[in-house]
Amino acid sequence: MPVWREEKLCCDVLVIGGGDAGLRAAIAAKLCDTDVLLVTKMKVGSTSNTYISKAVMASIGWGPPDDNARIHMVDTVSGGRFYTIHAKVVVLATGGYAQIYLNTNNVPGINGDGQALAYDVGVPLKDMEFVQFYPTATGKRGSRLLLYERMLAQPGVVLRDAQDEDILRSYGIDDATKVTRDRLAQVIYEEMNPTKSTNQEIFMGRKALPEQKATQLTSLLPSRWWKGQKVFKVAPTAHFCMGGIVTDPSGETSLMGLFAVGEATAGVHGANRLGGNALAEIFSLGAWVGKKAALRA
Ligand SMILES: Cc1cc2nc3c(=O)[nH]c(=O)nc-3n(C[C@H](O)[C@H](O)[C@H](O)COP(=O)(O)OP(=O)(O)OC[C@H]3O[C@@H](n4cnc5c(N)ncnc54)[C@H](O)[C@@H]3O)c2cc1C
Repeated sequence: MPVWREEKLCCDVLVIGGGDAGLRAAIAAKLCDTDVLLVTKMKVGSTSNTYISKAVMASIGWGPPDDNARIHMVDTVSGGRFYTIHAKVVVLATGGYAQIYLNTNNVPGINGDGQALAYDVGVPLKDMEFVQFYPTATGKRGSRLLLYERMLAQPGVVLRDAQDEDILRSYGIDDATKVTRDRLAQVIYEEMNPTKSTNQEIFMGRKALPEQKATQLTSLLPSRWWKGQKVFKVAPTAHFCMGGIVTDPSGETSLMGLFAVGEATAGVHGANRLGGNALAEIFSLGAWVGKKAALRA
């Protein structure tokens, strides 16, 4: 007896991924009078409860002997529906792959699925080692809030170890405004590396910041609960992937009809993205690639 029902869906353009690159591409393709279907892992356009629950169900073979991947799948889909989607053109907008790192601030589900799918069908990937680490993230293992590293440009704000020593000075860096994010991330990482340093924890401290300035800067703090806090534990965290799926200038991959856009792709930002450019990219190229995908369909 079948445990699930299979249904067939047809469309001109299938967009996979509900981030802004996917949404923008879907809108552009729809404006070109094509039938568009957008599928995504999580709630479209928002982080959903998955964001805070952090729980993932999987069966990989180390649980009870009467449980296995097949039984888990049957449990999961029992009584549910499967859709087979027939599309003339597919746009991969599944984001990057920062969730493969222990320390990351990306939402759950950004696992490089689009890159894996493209690779499986023979489409090349490029620059996969180009991953940008945000230097001063907070939270468990740098998992969430970003403490704006430009705070270090303020006199009285220092990056210090547990002994209160200014770690930038010990690297010969006197002017924090001249340090790029990647250099800052390297310095903090080296200081946290137990084989190179006795420091396990690094802090951004603003004890010496004049009170008036401190009040002005509270708007830069990512949480209102931190307003009175003077010392923050920080760590580098995987933030953005510059590598990914290789496309031509229209967003089409080497497989005709398969497009990619957004953080899923390679090459737009070279080896090190400048702050703010990702959103500019996904809005402009999302529209461009959506249109090209519609024309191909
Ligand atoms: C904390 C943080 C702050 C940032 N701040 C800035 C900033 O200020 N300025 C800036 O320019 N950039 C910033 N960035 C980077 C920027 O947000 C991202 O690069 C950009 O949003 C990526 O958009 P995207 O649509 O390509 O991918 P995403 O927004 O990551 O969306 C990918 C979508 O694909 C879905 N998906 C994944 N796998 C599958 C699958 N197998 N099937 C179906 N759907 C799937 C996901 O659920 C998601 O909906 C920040 C990033 C982070 C993490």
